[in-house]
Parts: sequence; C-alpha cells; structure tokens
Amino acid sequence: MKKKLIILGASGNIGTQVLDTLEQHENEFEIVGMSVGDRAGVLEEYLETHTLQYACLKHYDDYERISAQYPDTQFFYGDEGLQKIAAIKCNLVINALQGFVGAFPTLKAIEAGNNIAIANKESLVGAGQIIMEAARKHNVKIIPIDSEHSAIFQCLQGNDKKDVRRIIITASGGSFRRYSRKDLEYVTLEEALKHPSWKMSPKITIDSATMMNKGFEVIEAHVLFDIPYEKIETIMHWESVVHSFVEYNDHSLLAQMGVSDMRIPIQYSLTYPDRLPNRSEALDLEKLGSLHFEKLDYERFPLMKLAYSCGKKGGNMPAVLNGANEKAVEMFIMGKCKFLDIERLIFRAVEAAEFIPEPTLEQIIESDRWAQNFVRKSLGGKA
Ligand code: MG
Repeated sequence: MKKKLIILGASGNIGTQVLDTLEQHENEFEIVGMSVGDRAGVLEEYLETHTLQYACLKHYDDYERISAQYPDTQFFYGDEGLQKIAAIKCNLVINALQGFVGAFPTLKAIEAGNNIAIANKESLVGAGQIIMEAARKHNVKIIPIDSEHSAIFQCLQGNDKKDVRRIIITASGGSFRRYSRKDLEYVTLEEALKHPSWKMSPKITIDSATMMNKGFEVIEAHVLFDIPYEKIETIMHWESVVHSFVEYNDHSLLAQMGVSDMRIPIQYSLTYPDRLPNRSEALDLEKLGSLHFEKLDYERFPLMKLAYSCGKKGGNMPAVLNGANEKAVEMFIMGKCKFLDIERLIFRAVEAAEFIPEPTLEQIIESDRWAQNFVRKSLGGKA
C-alpha cells in the first residue's frame, strides 16, 4: 500500500524539495493533494503529467480557471480551502507553509487524525503548546523536517527522553557570522540574503542572519520534544555538517551528520521509521577533514537571549516574538527598515506586550496580530 500524502505549500522552497524527493519513490508514495498558494503555474505544470484528487489555490481567479480544466480534481481556495485540504484523511500531511498562518491547517489536520511532517516552524513557535496538546489528544505524530530537529529526533530514537542530559542545537551563524555589532549597522538586504551553507527562502535566510531562526529552533525543540529550556543549548558550527547533538546522562554524545541538503531530513520525515536511498550527496569525511565548534555569543546575537526568555516565560510571549519578527522581516525585505531595526522592533514589541500566561488559540492569534501591528505602527504605518 502506498502512503497517501497531502503537501501544503508544495510550490515553496521546502515544498519543491519534497516533490523532488518523492519523484524517485513513486512506488512508496502517492500525492493525493497539494496547495500551491499564489503560484498557480506550479500546479498547472504538475497537473500536465500527474493526477491529483485534491488541490488548493490562494486566489479565487486561479481556482475558477484551473478547476474548469480538471474536472476529476476537487479544488479549494483561500485560507478556508487550506484548512479543508489539510483535513482530508491521508497517511501524512506535509506542512511546508511559511509563517504563523500554517498553524490553522496544522490544527485541522490533527483533528482529522492525520500525522504531520512539519517544516512550518512559525506555527510551532507561536502556537506550539496548543498544537502539541491537540496532537496528544488525537494521537497524532508530529515529525520534524527542520534539519536540527530531524537530527534531534533521529538521535532520540531507541532512547528514553528521561536519560537526556542536554540537547545541543548547532548554528551556522548565517550570512553575517563574521560581522561585529558595528558592522551590522550598514549591511544591505542583498548581503543578508547570502547564506553560507543552506539555500532557503528569503524569510528564513534573514531569520538566520539575525539568529532569530536559531532562537525559534530552541523554542521549537522545547515544544516538539518536551525538554526543558535548561537542557537545550546551542553551539556555533560553521560547516553545517553536524545538524545537532543529543547528550545522554552517561555522557554519550550522539550526533546526526550529513551534507547540508534538506532532502535528507525531508525524506526521513516521509519514510520514518524506515530509510530509503536519497538523491543527495553522501558526506565525504576525508574531503571534509575537520569540523569546528565555537561558543555562540549571546551579546553578539541578542535575539537568542530574547528567544530563551520568551520561551521560558511561555504563554503568549513566543507568539508575540514570532509576530513581531514576521512583520519586521517583511518590512526589511520591502526596504522599509534597516537590518538592525529588525532586532530593535522585536525587543520593543516584546517589552510592550501584555503577558497572557495560559492563552487560548484566539488569544494567540490576537497576540500575533497585535505584535505585527505594533511593528507596523512603530515604522509609521497604519495599523
Ligand atoms: Mg533549521
């Protein structure tokens, strides 16, 4: 029996790599549905050579035009459509959406009893507790795609979480790892978009340059693995070869290693607990020669410290942190603020936010909106 899949965000950076990974395993998997947002062209191209039972587009115009051509496919559109397609019974929903909006289809998929492979870290940061609680209630598996969390997930296999001494998340340091605080005042968008080891979407590349991404990954690890923040550490590792470590109480330190190719963690999330051949390169240890690790300086990367404090405080604070970041990065990409303003705006939003210790989903959504509006207004825009 083929594993039936629904891919949310199939046209994005992760989504296209999911499709690439699946192309060589057509005997194992069947894509029954996908969403492509506003990139209708990606869906049209796919439908030329494949069939789909379900498809979802962002805009009504695209929906109307394409659905008329493919009567055998059931089409959806908009945010509501995304939630509907996520709730169609299948073996695995792959959430490769970007941004906090990914939380809603995640919750719908969980309620429908679908297991989820998740790359959408913003939803785990903002609404992590609610998502994980729902997953436990509906007995649904949440399998990480993020390379660090896939590494941790793999290092945890066959062991008991109570024996974990600490988790060490590795950080490449992003585009500006060699820059001082002073150098950062003058960096441009173009420079920020040059990541040294991973090819990713602009949003996550900027998040890597500010190190907000690593801060989110600390929160994501806490949420996914239910491990206290005191046991989650980070380390600078420029080569991006060790994707993270798990150390046990007996001081055995387990690492998952490989070339920096997202198709490895993507494929593991699809085949787990099995392993299949992969199109990626194998790691050549002799060519590699050596690996480097260095203390991650939290004075240099203050958003790391802020992520720990928001994570530990819990409640709606991670949602505020994520909402403020989402808007600040959007503004930076649009040329409406400087690189270091991203950081300043996030700090200000977190300081000004009202703390809600045990938020409902509605309050989480409200906190996300509030933080986005706060950043917009701080930059002189209308709320
Ligand atoms: Mg990552």
